[in-house]
Parts: sequence; structure tokens; C-alpha cells
Amino acid sequence: MSAVLAKPHKDEQIVSVDPATGKELGSIDVSTPDEVREAVSRSRQVFHKWKTTSFKTRRRLVMNAREVILDEMDDIAHLISAESGKPFGEAIAMEIAPVLDLMQWVARGAEKMLRPRRVGIGLYRLLGRSSKIVYRPLGVVGIIPAWNYPFSIPLGEAVMALMAGNTVVLKPSELTPLVGLRIGDIFEKAGFPEAAVQIVSGGGETGASLVEAAPDKIMFTGSVATGKKIAAAAAKDLTSVVLELGGKDPMIVFEDANLDLAAGAAVWGAFCNAGQSCSSIERLYVHESVAETLTRKIVEKTRGLRQGRGDREDISVGPMSSERQLKIVEEHVAAFREAGAKIEIGGRRADTTVRTDAESADPDKFGPTPSLFYEPTVITGATNEMRPMQEETFGPTLPIATFKTEEEAIRLANESEFGLTASVWTRDYAKGKRVAEQIDAGSVCINEVLYTHGIGQTPWGGFKNSGRGRTHGLEGLMELVQPQHIHINRIAILPDAWWMPYTPTAVETFRGLATKFASGSVLKTAALLPQLLKRIRELMRKYKG
Ligand code: NAD
Repeated sequence: MSAVLAKPHKDEQIVSVDPATGKELGSIDVSTPDEVREAVSRSRQVFHKWKTTSFKTRRRLVMNAREVILDEMDDIAHLISAESGKPFGEAIAMEIAPVLDLMQWVARGAEKMLRPRRVGIGLYRLLGRSSKIVYRPLGVVGIIPAWNYPFSIPLGEAVMALMAGNTVVLKPSELTPLVGLRIGDIFEKAGFPEAAVQIVSGGGETGASLVEAAPDKIMFTGSVATGKKIAAAAAKDLTSVVLELGGKDPMIVFEDANLDLAAGAAVWGAFCNAGQSCSSIERLYVHESVAETLTRKIVEKTRGLRQGRGDREDISVGPMSSERQLKIVEEHVAAFREAGAKIEIGGRRADTTVRTDAESADPDKFGPTPSLFYEPTVITGATNEMRPMQEETFGPTLPIATFKTEEEAIRLANESEFGLTASVWTRDYAKGKRVAEQIDAGSVCINEVLYTHGIGQTPWGGFKNSGRGRTHGLEGLMELVQPQHIHINRIAILPDAWWMPYTPTAVETFRGLATKFASGSVLKTAALLPQLLKRIRELMRKYKG
């Protein structure tokens, strides 16, 4: 099944639009609730076969998919750039490269990570028992991603789900439907069985239909508000959900940090993808003694950025994805101004002419004059009391606040409903680690920012309102399987002492189990043996009688 989505709804179609130019890129039928239900049901049928495939087969197919991506890399990057607005190079660096790495890691490593595991069961071993855990796939995994990393996030989640033996129904964001369809195309070209991965298209209603169709797991990436709706809807069928939600990520710069590097990292961390990353730096706390120097370096670097349409290789900052998102940025900047903060650079829509003359002369293909560019904006004098320091902005703004002590820096960083990522900048690694371990966030970098989603081997997810559950890493793989405990009694010739009927001898034995066996001590348990034998003899007599 395929369909596309796009920004303005045209009845049952969505139209995909380039946010830099307003050009229509394509339109796709919205999947009806029935079609979504059918997709889930077809997925469940295919699952019963797919779950029996060997890891070798799965690995081969995922590696084929990598080859397809490598062959079509520039074309895919152009599509990501056109539909999301991000620079072409950034689409390669921040979406294609990391997901290719994740694919080879999980293709090669899933078998080992999901290998049945023996578990130590203490003194039960003395009773001839053993236990192992096998990891069984869940079934149908429904993926509902955001638009900001429209390729790497859903593709990575789909590959991990498939390697674990699940099948996938993906509903891409309505802002990036063509990239979603391209993901389906890659799996098809790689030779995956039909319907192992299906794409359904549409906006929030289609996402809601997917939840309603009760897949066996939902991997959701998006806003806190939608995450709550999905968790509530999924509860009806007890569908388990991983929620990857918003962030307001802090960067703490101590006085001993390398300020040139910290400035470069802040600019990249705040403005890549036009600030539309869940782990964008949205709050910078700098020690007051170096605040002026760091701010000057950040402003200089920001001034040097070129903004424009993402298909040019000298462009660092593209447009915002939608008018709705841009309005939030404008509102936050106005609120900062009103609260007394200072706009050092930026603070307005960019006056960027992005259309060629030929494009401007083609009114059928281009919508109203686009104005989705917002200048990279550096704000000083911010404090946590200012409202936009507490709400996710998701745009190219970098508010800077100061602190005096390590304790204050930690308190300010933790004063947020979010806890996705954070970073600490210092040359003193002991201090860096000490601070990192006190920050409430799913990933904390020392002298690095933002990019850890790109390390597929490590768990990704948030504390507090930034999410529930994990994607990536062993922890993320474990979200996509259910552990099954296989327990074996190798001396199944005697009844268990705790079986019925209960008698005074049984109760005495249970006392012994509680005080001796459950102590974990072999010596104490040895002292229980006569009582155990007495009880077992009693049971055997009763069984025979
Ligand atoms: P959003 O919540 O508006 O939409 C996300 C997805 O949910 C879309 O595919 C949308 O169609 C779908 N949806 C909307 N309503 C739905 C409903 N009722 N039921 C089912 N599906 C529904 O978010 P967005 O604007 O696309 O993305 C921006 C947000 O995503 C930001 O908050 C950002 O921080 C977050 N994000 C988080 C991560 C992470 O890894 N934590 C990564 C990327 C983006």
C-alpha cells in the first residue's frame, strides 16, 4: 500500500511541498481507516512467516537495502532536502550516514544480541532446574514518526524491528510523505517479502487509525501532546508504546572549556536542521566569567552562516518546515524580548529570495511566495523564569543564560519538564562526569553536542516528558521483542515439596524454605534437606495411596 501526504490537505490527498520554494513535489492518496486496518492485518499474516526466517536471511536483506541506499544516495538526499528543507549535505551527514551505520550494526549484531541466554537461578540449580531466556518477536510494529528526520528515524526503527523478526507498518509524517514512500521503495528493491514493510499515508487521523488497528507495538516520535494522545488510545488494547518526544536541551559551558570549540558546537547544535532537532541546544548556560567571550564567538560564527534552499552546497541553514512551526519561533522570540532578553543577532524572518526567475514565472507549480526562513537567532540575558526557556521552540534560536557555580548550573539544566539530551563543556573530565551524572537526561555528552542519535549502538530516549522507552542500542532492540523464560526440571522423578495437599509437615517445610533456602546460603539449605526429604516422602505416599 502506498500513499503520500503533504502540507495542505486536498480532500483525500496530501500534497508534498518544498518548504523553501513552495513548489509542489507530489500528492498522494490518504489511506482510509479500512486500508490501515487491512495493512495491519496483512502485516500480521506475513509476520507468521517472517518470524521464522533466519538471521542470515534478514541480515542479507538489510545489507541489500544498504546497497540500494548507497546506489541512490544523492537522489535520496535531494528528496529529503526538498521535502524537509534541510541542506543536501546535512541530509547525507545526519540522516543517511548514521542510518547506514545503524543498519550494518544491527544486521551483523542482532543474532548475537538476541541469542538465547542462560540465567543463573541460585539454589534452584541444586534441585536440578535450569532457566534460559529466548527473545521472541512481537508481531506488527507500527511506526509513527515526526518530519524532522524523515529518513533516518523511521528507517532505523523499521530495520531494528525487522531484524528482531517483526513486520512493519509505517505512517510517515504528513510533511514528508515522499520520503516515507521512498523508504518503502528501498525495502522492496532490497527483496524483502511483500508486505513485510507497508507504508500508509495521511496525517494525524491516519496515525490514529494505525493505533486503533492495534499493532503489537507502536514506535512514536513527535510532540508530547500527540504522545499523550497515542498512549491513551493505545491503552484501550494494552498496546505497548515507545514514545520519543520533545526536548529543551541544555548546554553547560564552564569557565575552563575550550571556548572556540564550544562556540562552534553551540552554533551547530542550535541551528542545524534550522533548529528543528529534538536534541537541538535550546538553552545555553555559561559561566558568567566567560559569557561575554563565548557570546561574541557564537555571534561571529552565526553571522558567517549562509541561509537558503538546501540544494545548494554552500547553504548551512534552510527554511523552517511549516508556517505553524515558524509562528512558534516568532512568538518565543517576542516573549524573550518582552521579558527583557536581548536579541544579539537574527530575531526575524529572513529576507531570502530562493526562487529562480523561471520558478517564479510558473505559478501552477509554486504556491504563494514562501517565507519560511527564520534567521539564526542568538539571545542573551535569558533566565529560566522566561516562558520560552520552559517550552520547546524547535527553531533556530539560541538563548544564553549565565551561572556562577557548578550546583547552580546543574539546577538550571534540570529545571525543565524535558530531559532528552544535555552537554557539559569543560577540560576537567572528572568535573564533566560528575555534572553529567547529575543531569536528568537520556544522553549527556561531555565536550560534544546533539549527534548521539547517530550512534545506533547506544540507547536513545528521554527522561521526564521527553519520552518513555528506548530506540537504538541493545535497549532499543529489547523493546522490539518479548523475553520468554524457558524453565527445565531435569530430575522430573519426584513431586515438588510445595505441591498439594498441604499438611503440618508441608507448613514446616515452607518455613524452612523461607528461612533457609531463600537465604541463598548453601549451608543453611543443606540443613533443610532432611525436612525436604520428609515432605517429599509424605507426598509420594499420598500419590501412591
Ligand atoms: P507531531 O506530534 O505533530 O506528529 C508526529 C507524528 O504523529 C506525525 O506523523 C503525525 O501525523 C502523527 N499524529 C498526529 N496526531 C496523531 C494522533 N492523534 N494519533 C496518531 N498519530 C498522530 O510532531 P511533529 O511536529 O511531527 O514533530 C515535532 C516533535 O517531534 C518535536 O516535539 C520534536 O522534539 C519531536 N521529536 C522527537 C524526537 C526524539 O527522538 N525524541 C525526534 C524527532 C522529533
